[in-house]
Amino acid sequence: MVLYQLNRPLPRLLICSNCGGFLIGYAIKGKRTHYYKCNGCKHINMNAKTTKASRNLGLNDAFKELLSGVVLNNEVVDVFKLQLKKCSLICIRVQMIN
Ligand SMILES: [Zn+2]
Repeated sequence: MVLYQLNRPLPRLLICSNCGGFLIGYAIKGKRTHYYKCNGCKHINMNAKTTKASRNLGLNDAFKELLSGVVLNNEVVDVFKLQLKKCSLICIRVQMIN
């Protein structure tokens, strides 16, 4: 896995709650920090990682927390696995934290 994928694994997986466009990832090399942003909305910009200085969870950790709350009924596990195999892209709407 490429280094940027480890730091920003969610680009084009998350949808901007403001305009519906995909969020993309970028880094500021001098600061070694990673972010997600919406190209359509200049004010939608979030930390990828949780830092000591950040007020909110980074989007990577917020996504993990969201998924940890998902519990599948045993009856749908096999169907869900099959659907994951068929999908090349999973889009999950995440409530944006501003
Ligand atoms: Zn947007």
